[in-house]
Amino acid sequence: MQRRGNFLSVLARASATRCGGPNRAEACAADRTYDFRNMEISELQQRVDAWIKEYGVRYFSELTNMAVLTEEVGELARVMARKYGDQSFKAGEKEDLADEMADVLWVLVCLANQTGVDLTQALEANFAKKTGRDAGRHRSNPKL
Ligand SMILES: [Mg+2]
Repeated sequence: MQRRGNFLSVLARASATRCGGPNRAEACAADRTYDFRNMEISELQQRVDAWIKEYGVRYFSELTNMAVLTEEVGELARVMARKYGDQSFKAGEKEDLADEMADVLWVLVCLANQTGVDLTQALEANFAKKTGRDAGRHRSNPKL
């Protein structure tokens, strides 16, 4: 649960960073006072939807957001390759692993919202699928 709280705190910071211009000061203030630590996934979907409608005007098309998701995964991969892999950061290059993860989650939630996916139900089903399929597989893997 601690990890979840920290991650959602990062989402709050990422959201505040996105606020940017002076006309969005009110939204930033609202985001800073919101307690993300106990947010349910359904609430995350609702908050992203409300943000998109208020500040994003509308969702990008599904295919555009699929491309943006790929772009954000690439940005996450760039940080991972430099922090944990063999690449090195360029001079002045910033490492913000948590922010890149939040970007990926944000766009994934957008895609869920605009395609009618309930991520709570999807995750519950996914846990069941993985447990049914992999309950013994990893334990019997001598490489793990
Ligand atoms: Mg990014």
